[in-house]
Amino acid sequence: MLAGRTTTEELLAYLVSFDTTSRNSNLRLIGFVRDYLEAFGVASVLVPSEDGEKASLFCTIGPEGVGGVCLSGHSDVVPVDGQPWTTDPFTLTPKDDRLYGRGSCDMKGFVAACLAKVPDMVASKLSTPIHILVSYDEELGCTGVIPAVRKLGVDLPLPRACIVGEPTLMKVVDAHKSGTGYVTTVTGREAHSSMPQLGANAIFASAELIAELDRLRAELIAAGDASGRFDPPNSTLQVVGIEGGTAGNIVPRRCVVKWNLRGLPNFDEEALVARFERFARDVVLPKLRVEAPEAEIETHFTYRVPPLAPQPGSPAERLALRLAGQNATFAVSYGTEGGHFQAQGVPTVICGPGSIDQAHKPDEFIEVAQLRACERFLDGLIAECT
Ligand SMILES: [Zn+2]
Repeated sequence: MLAGRTTTEELLAYLVSFDTTSRNSNLRLIGFVRDYLEAFGVASVLVPSEDGEKASLFCTIGPEGVGGVCLSGHSDVVPVDGQPWTTDPFTLTPKDDRLYGRGSCDMKGFVAACLAKVPDMVASKLSTPIHILVSYDEELGCTGVIPAVRKLGVDLPLPRACIVGEPTLMKVVDAHKSGTGYVTTVTGREAHSSMPQLGANAIFASAELIAELDRLRAELIAAGDASGRFDPPNSTLQVVGIEGGTAGNIVPRRCVVKWNLRGLPNFDEEALVARFERFARDVVLPKLRVEAPEAEIETHFTYRVPPLAPQPGSPAERLALRLAGQNATFAVSYGTEGGHFQAQGVPTVICGPGSIDQAHKPDEFIEVAQLRACERFLDGLIAECT
């Protein structure tokens, strides 16, 4: 186990060495963090997943029973499968002014910087507490943080501000789009493809549904973005997967279409999905049911990341701008755990080291200068909380 003061780079090397690809357990990493905190006398709370294979970790440094500032980061990373890495993705590798490794940027760099500052937080006799939350399954639709967030203000303290350290080049992001994954399953009826009139073709039906999704997509582009802050400047809809059919001589009974929506903060997603479902029910389904009365078209969601809506002048925004030495906030199009915190009543912004351009790619890296900037930000936070 580590003893004494450990640098951000050393901690990052440890964090990267745990293969916390979202499909794996993160418990070894969480155990490492828990032991590290314990070495400084900081107790932490585990919030395990339902199956016990993963966990979030929450700790408070400073007085208990008061709001405080929450620093939040996820422990999981995206897969390296099939990516042409030139270094070992799970060995932090310095080269020039960069540190290469899976998760170095998204977002173990932020977590490492927070942990490296723990001794200073402990020594500083904070009057406002600093909370650290390390989550899991962020890369699977920001689902892993939910059990921990639901405890805030219930059996864990409710922070008065939260900073989610996703890579923003230490710029303050106060708005992002929502993200929802949908699966539409069409069930028709099998038949010999020489006798198609006896079957109900699920793939033809899916094609009509996809064409409707494409029309809705075009409407979203035409509707644009009144705030003028987002790139691309509209809510977006994409079909991201399709699976169906059994063999070359069978009318397909089943087809599954995966699609997703990324909505601007004020986007009326329910209305759009209701329109799609009406189209499915009133236009596509009746044709299937001519031959197959048992035919069905069902749509359900697999994950839902709430948007981050700007809260101008919120404690989180004012604090982060002050600490980052900036005077403007930004909006991004990717989703984060921030929306869950906001939905729980915690003012939240996104601000962390590294660039989203390096996230999820082979040879992911973080610039050492970004880690230094994050450390300065955290030094400022400690000073504010003392
Ligand atoms: Zn991330």
